[in-house]
Amino acid sequence: MPQSLTKPRLAAFHRQGGRCYYCGAPMWLGRPDKFPDRYGISVGVAARLQYTGEHLVARQDGGDCSPANIVAACWFCNQKRHSRKCPPSAEVYRQKVLGRLRQGKWHPPEIHRLLGRATLK
Ligand SMILES: [Zn+2]
Repeated sequence: MPQSLTKPRLAAFHRQGGRCYYCGAPMWLGRPDKFPDRYGISVGVAARLQYTGEHLVARQDGGDCSPANIVAACWFCNQKRHSRKCPPSAEVYRQKVLGRLRQGKWHPPEIHRLLGRATLK
């Protein structure tokens, strides 16, 4: 039986407490609804925090759709990784994102304020 994509993706979202695998920002699923108000950010900024399912190893590189290969990532981190000519491995990319976050240069200031209290590893 072919494995459904939706289930591992949702599982990843919940396993990660609704936070992005790369940047740790809270994400929204389905519709943003009260998300911008709850976090005190604008609707435009909230758009980049839409939840997406991310393959750690891309399908074109032989990655499958097993739960171990699926993480939840915000739209911004996801599209930034894949907009590169040669997307880096998930781990390399994650370190890069965390480095940019520490410099306050990854997201707009609203999101950095949000993350200020989160522990970045
Ligand atoms: Zn992110």
